[in-house]
Amino acid sequence: MFDVIIAGCGPTGAMLAAELRLHDVRVLVLEKETEPASFVRIVGLHIRSIELMAMRGLLERILERGRQRPAGSYFAAIDKPAPEGLDSAYAYLLGIPQPVIVHLLEEHAIELGAQVRHGCAVVDFEQDDDGVTVELADGEQLRSRYLVGCDGGRSTVRKLLGVGFPGEPARTETLMGEMEVGVPQEEFAAKASEIGEADKRFSLRAAGVGVYRVVVPAAGVSDRAEPPTLEDFKQQLRTIAGTDFGVHSPRWLSRFGDATRLAERYRVGRVLLAGDAAHIHPPIGGQGLNLGVQDAFNLGWKLAAQIRGWAPETLLDTYQAERHPVAADVLDNTRAQTELLSTGPGPQAVRRLLTELMDFDEVNRHLMEKITAIGIRYDFGEGPDLLGRRLHDIDVKQGHLYGLLHRGRGLLLDRTERLTVDGWSDRVDYLADPTAVLDAPCVLLRPDGHVAWIGDDQQDLADHLSRWFGKPAN
Ligand SMILES: Cc1cc2nc3c(=O)[nH]c(=O)nc-3n(C[C@H](O)[C@H](O)[C@H](O)COP(=O)(O)OP(=O)(O)OC[C@H]3O[C@@H](n4cnc5c(N)ncnc54)[C@H](O)[C@@H]3O)c2cc1C
Repeated sequence: MFDVIIAGCGPTGAMLAAELRLHDVRVLVLEKETEPASFVRIVGLHIRSIELMAMRGLLERILERGRQRPAGSYFAAIDKPAPEGLDSAYAYLLGIPQPVIVHLLEEHAIELGAQVRHGCAVVDFEQDDDGVTVELADGEQLRSRYLVGCDGGRSTVRKLLGVGFPGEPARTETLMGEMEVGVPQEEFAAKASEIGEADKRFSLRAAGVGVYRVVVPAAGVSDRAEPPTLEDFKQQLRTIAGTDFGVHSPRWLSRFGDATRLAERYRVGRVLLAGDAAHIHPPIGGQGLNLGVQDAFNLGWKLAAQIRGWAPETLLDTYQAERHPVAADVLDNTRAQTELLSTGPGPQAVRRLLTELMDFDEVNRHLMEKITAIGIRYDFGEGPDLLGRRLHDIDVKQGHLYGLLHRGRGLLLDRTERLTVDGWSDRVDYLADPTAVLDAPCVLLRPDGHVAWIGDDQQDLADHLSRWFGKPAN
């Protein structure tokens, strides 16, 4: 008997497993693939995800394997630098191959005690009042108190759950792959960049020594069920560029679409959904992995609290209440970005106008905070603007704030040195620091770093500790 079975060891599942293990929850992750993906796409970790890695002590190992880049120019690939003074100590983009980030997160989860079984596909489950019986492809049955589907866009868990996945089917498909090019770079660079300027869905760029990443529209490539071939790439290159640049020796070839869908519910009884299993959208803006990892960060401590028995009655439901609107907003901004990449004169005119508008700092900042997820404010009720937002990393007398959040517990940062978390100290840490640079006397942080309370009154604090962390221990 496990506390939680997670279907899928992608970035979302691995992150969730680690978050649950911080609270000693017995976790089993079932991953249908036996080998890591050969599909080596570089994904961009945006600021909020980088902050999460810092909050769990993972950033150093991730930085070793990734490449820091400027944070700007991500909204619809409109070439604008990030605004000055972004509200984060980690104001950059981190490019990292997806299999590397998955490996690092899985390794972290295993170090914390999660069990991960590869080559195990979840094919069925049944839930009752006490738990979930999960069936694997080989007929084995396993039992857990909760099941979380982190099994990607074609989620078996979501389908078996019967949760609707409304939205738009793919309108356009894109081919992406890495390969060698048969002509010297000087001969094709200017032409490739000229075509890329006119058609934002084309690019041919260096992706390592002697290897180039090719992105071309898949229009006309017929059989969607079959993986694309090198010939498909050549044909598309000839159509769009008049030459196939002599491409050869592919490393990997893939295809993706722009379907946009959002699960109607994130939870049915003891079964929950997170990551691509709950939402899919085109990759423009590089947000999908970030969104999934952040779902896991939001869900982990709440599900752990439910299992450990201290969760207030409605805590687990706040997962959907908080994360569903965030995903809806990401879907909307990718819809907008997709339009801005269209080659028609109307969308191109809107693109030019938005490019002008982004010269206004507030517009650029707003879009930047959206894409990087640092602008998210959960609805915790009336209160100062900081309430419901994540707190950026600040210096505190013991080093830096995020360094104190590695254990995934709540934290009271008390500049008055008068308050106490007695009664909750098994769940919430306490830091008295009158020198902390903060625009509030005290803040109560949830384990995901969002500000759950601001004030200086002990009774008010106790009420909010109960709201988020349950009844005090005797
Ligand atoms: C071209 C492209 C570029 C992208 N670039 C970015 C980017 O820059 N930034 C970004 O944030 N996102 C990016 N994304 C999106 C990102 O790759 C996904 O959003 C992310 O992989 C979702 O993670 P996940 O863990 O939710 O799902 P997945 O990564 O799909 O993982 C699901 C896992 O579940 C397993 N599984 C499936 N079914 C079962 C089953 N029945 N039982 C057990 N296991 C199962 C799968 O094998 C898989 O390992 C990009 C996507 C594409 C296509």
